[in-house]
Amino acid sequence: MFKLILGLGNCDIQNIKALVKLYAKAGAWMFDVSPKMLPVLSQAILEENLDPDNYKFCVSIPVEGDIHGKKAHIDLKKCKKCKKCVKACPQGAIEDFVVNSTKCIGCSICKKKCSHNAVKLSDDTSYYKEFKEVLKQGIKLDCVELHASVDDEKKILGLLKKISKKYKGAISLCISRKHFSNLAAFSLIKKAQKILQDNLDFYVQADGKSMNGADKELSSTLECVAFALSLKDLGFDEKKIILSGGVNEYTKNLCEKLSLSPLAFGFGTYARNKVKNLDEQQALEVALKLVKDVSEA
Ligand code: SF4
Ligand code: SF4
Repeated sequence: MFKLILGLGNCDIQNIKALVKLYAKAGAWMFDVSPKMLPVLSQAILEENLDPDNYKFCVSIPVEGDIHGKKAHIDLKKCKKCKKCVKACPQGAIEDFVVNSTKCIGCSICKKKCSHNAVKLSDDTSYYKEFKEVLKQGIKLDCVELHASVDDEKKILGLLKKISKKYKGAISLCISRKHFSNLAAFSLIKKAQKILQDNLDFYVQADGKSMNGADKELSSTLECVAFALSLKDLGFDEKKIILSGGVNEYTKNLCEKLSLSPLAFGFGTYARNKVKNLDEQQALEVALKLVKDVSEA
């Protein structure tokens, strides 16, 4: 199944609406947005006269320190206006050497491109508060995802506990091997399952290299598949695994070769970039192919 990840930091309403409408028509199964953007997701589906019950709505919350919850800032005293960051930003978020925080997804590409140490990344800590606000609005919500690519187990489980007190639907834990070995990740999952025993369902989003999906690039997808495979080997139900972070056109094929059948494939930057700058018809053809390829998994 196909999950479209809109980008936790992405609050560009027009961009979100256009992507949701496109991938909903193409047959996506789940959409993942920041809590603040849940009403926008819901509205986009209704504007297309589609039945919301045919889709799963997910909101993401980052643990402090996780890359998805970061925002970039440019120090104009250090900036030499070389434009390397402007050209490299996948979101087109840098205008006149100022980062538009509405568009920034915290990918840190700008920081890596800057030779003058002018870019800083800091945590946006507003997501949990926005999640509580959105719960009060009573909008359809099928899953809450915790982005937990940090090395602090206590912090992860603490936030998970707080979320599960407010929300008893499905919860997804997005973790990677950046900070945990296979065994440590599995042990964390077991502890999370215990905390979430009263929740409707529990998924693990096995993250590879966040925001790294690329065309014709096998290496970008290897890490998430390898991680998912190790969780399966340790006894975690593969049908509760969603792959993300480097997912691309090779992922499904790789999974089949390794006899791995995950619940879903989470496409983020890759799916968004694939349809960028295409006209409506071309974009729909690309989206249909991408969704069809993984939906047959
Ligand atoms: S790469 Fe660094 S120096 Fe160049 S424009 Fe961006 S922030 Fe300024
Ligand atoms: S490159 Fe990434 S982190 Fe930098 S401004 Fe663009 S979206 Fe934000």
